[in-house]
Amino acid sequence: MQPPLEPCSRQLAAARQALSQAEIVCQQRGVRLTQLRRRVLEIIWHHSSPLGAYAILDVLRNDGRQGAPPTVYRALDFLLEQGLIHRLASLNMFMGCRQPGAHHSGQFLICQDCGQADELNNQTVEATLHTEAMARHFEVLAQTVEVLGRCLDCQEASRHGD
Ligand SMILES: [Zn+2]
Ligand SMILES: [Zn+2]
Repeated sequence: MQPPLEPCSRQLAAARQALSQAEIVCQQRGVRLTQLRRRVLEIIWHHSSPLGAYAILDVLRNDGRQGAPPTVYRALDFLLEQGLIHRLASLNMFMGCRQPGAHHSGQFLICQDCGQADELNNQTVEATLHTEAMARHFEVLAQTVEVLGRCLDCQEASRHGD
């Protein structure tokens, strides 16, 4: 996995948009997007693939902040609670949500080679899982589907590598 690099202009634009959306969501809910929470969200959006808590901590330390792991985890918990980010359990990493404020469970296509993840919000998949769970008298509390595989770029790279 690559270390966090300088964000490109597309990532900067995505981060700006995500931050202003986050401001609105937090204002509507009456919760505070503190400076640290904001910065953690920005760091996540500045990276092209999902990030782990320690990579986030490294960037915060580069900022000159006295970041301790519990502080970062608390900020991540807040962002998760508000639906501003998602946690990918299979990687133990975090990525920004493109539709914060809208309820969705999320399905993710995760590339095992480059670590990029793509968020799908397919309501048919969500409803199917819900129906299957109900048929088994299983109460669904959270639903995240993680599909592991290889993205198009990595498929092409491996073909050319042969
Ligand atoms: Zn999402
Ligand atoms: Zn890939």
